[in-house]
This record gives sequence, C-alpha cells and structure tokens, in this order.
Amino acid sequence: MAVSPSRISALRGLRGRCPACGKGRLFAGYLKQAPACADCGAATGEIEAEDGPPWLTVLLLGPLLAALTLIAARHETWPLWMRLAGLGAFAIVAALMLLPRIKGALIGVLWGMRGSG
Ligand SMILES: [Zn+2]
Repeated sequence: MAVSPSRISALRGLRGRCPACGKGRLFAGYLKQAPACADCGAATGEIEAEDGPPWLTVLLLGPLLAALTLIAARHETWPLWMRLAGLGAFAIVAALMLLPRIKGALIGVLWGMRGSG
C-alpha cells in the first residue's frame, strides 16, 4: 500500500519540518510559522491551522489526564498537594510538548490536501 502524500507531509510536520521537502524548518519560533521553507521555498506560512492545534491537544490530553486523575485519587497515601502539583505539572508539560507537534502535523495534513484538491 502506497503512503498518501498528506500522510508524508503530516509526519514531516510532526517533526517540525517543511511538509513539502522534509528538510527546512516549519517554525521560526515556538509556534510561529516560518513564512516559507528555507530549503525548498515552499510557502508553508500560508497554511492556516487556526484553532485546530489547541483543540486537538485538549482532545488527546483530556482522556489521559482523566485516567491519571483517577489513578492519583486512589493513592490516598500521597499528600493531596503532591497529587495536584504532579497532575498540574504533567498537564502543562505535556500540552507544551504536544502543541507544536500537533500544529506541525495539522499544517502537514493541510499542505498535503492542498495539492490533491
Ligand atoms: Zn521545504
């Protein structure tokens, strides 16, 4: 089975790379898109991911955090502040790590769809 172009560009975006060539950087900052790929010149900055990345991040993290909250709630020997601090820190770190990757993947998907119409 052949890998679809949008899947390749999504994987490139997930790694923060240009969806067109997979070499240039997709982001100029943490979440700021570069206007164009420095390697192949693809205008990746024109792709608007809008509210998709935070929405997807919450969708992916929500069930995981719910499960972790249940696990933490059962460990009554741990102090409450420790459980709350641990969950809060995990949620923040996980969201910050996921957000640019999800945004990159979404831009990659949109880039792949653009070509095939
Ligand atoms: Zn490129």
